[in-house]
Amino acid sequence: MEGITIRGRVEKGMPLSKLTTWRVGGPAAFAVWPADEEELLSVLRYGRERGLPAVVLGRGSNVLAPDEGWEGIAVITTMLRRAEWGADAVRAGAGCSLAALAREAARRSLSGLEFAGGIPGTLGGAAVMNAGAYGRDMSEVIAQARIWTPEGGSREVSGAELGFSYRRSTLQCGGRLLTEATLSLTPGEPAAIRRVMADHREWRRKTQPLGLPSAGSVFRNPAGDHAGRLIDEAGWKGRRIGGAEVSVRNANFIVNRGGATAGDIRALITAVREDVERRFRVRLETEIKFL
Ligand SMILES: Cc1cc2nc3c(=O)[nH]c(=O)nc-3n(C[C@H](O)[C@H](O)[C@H](O)COP(=O)(O)OP(=O)(O)OC[C@H]3O[C@@H](n4cnc5c(N)ncnc54)[C@H](O)[C@@H]3O)c2cc1C
Repeated sequence: MEGITIRGRVEKGMPLSKLTTWRVGGPAAFAVWPADEEELLSVLRYGRERGLPAVVLGRGSNVLAPDEGWEGIAVITTMLRRAEWGADAVRAGAGCSLAALAREAARRSLSGLEFAGGIPGTLGGAAVMNAGAYGRDMSEVIAQARIWTPEGGSREVSGAELGFSYRRSTLQCGGRLLTEATLSLTPGEPAAIRRVMADHREWRRKTQPLGLPSAGSVFRNPAGDHAGRLIDEAGWKGRRIGGAEVSVRNANFIVNRGGATAGDIRALITAVREDVERRFRVRLETEIKFL
């Protein structure tokens, strides 16, 4: 990348398969890990001025990257991981690991992030997706956030202004970016916090294919039902297209059994969706994002 000095890290032609948990995707023209918020915004400006489209990624644990790669800049937030802890809150950078924040909160006897212990994304990605588990989600803990929008630049907003609903937020629209957030927590009983987190870990170990590359739940749950139940009942567990397989452990996960392409995963998503719609008259919507 000529004409810009990066203090973070830059890689040319980095395969997106190395930047996403599904382990698929061709090369990005450039992958950049900005050192801080200022550098992140400079990289986005650089891309705009040169007609290089930019996509922002955290851990890439909720995205399907294309086999043909990305003719632009993949901007990865994982170096934005400053965290300032207070008595009942943490102000953290978008690139902080959500699971690490949950562990540190537990260590400080702060309750509120127990649900997030096994979600393998960044704070930014989790806010964008309103990630959640066990009936809790990010909307309940995000008190404030610093966001950047193409029209308004950077500003501080309240959690309520992020328009959270089930696995959605207004951050999913129009090139918006979250750079930092304040999570509101409550002082709790350390043993109780640890017990809840251990129970959650055990539940995940039993119900999710954690040893294989995936992106978590592929489909959103339809109102009053579970996508996994419908897919299981339609007989899809264990069925494959190429290297992509509907997990035998959790029918709403598609796992990469080795050598899967984005094309395999897309084809499996389409086949499952069409079959479920034909059988049950329910049109499943994807939760994962197509890059
Ligand atoms: C094994 C496994 C288990 C999972 N379990 C759960 C679960 O229990 N609950 C759940 O909700 N999810 C779960 N997920 C999905 C995923 O981990 C979450 O959605 C997570 O919050 C995504 O974070 P990320 O940093 O990986 O985001 P990415 O996948 O990198 O990005 C997701 C989307 O957000 C955008 N984005 C990322 N960072 C920013 C930012 N700072 N500003 C603006 N846009 C941004 C990206 O462009 C993309 O559109 C699971 C995934 C796996 C692999």
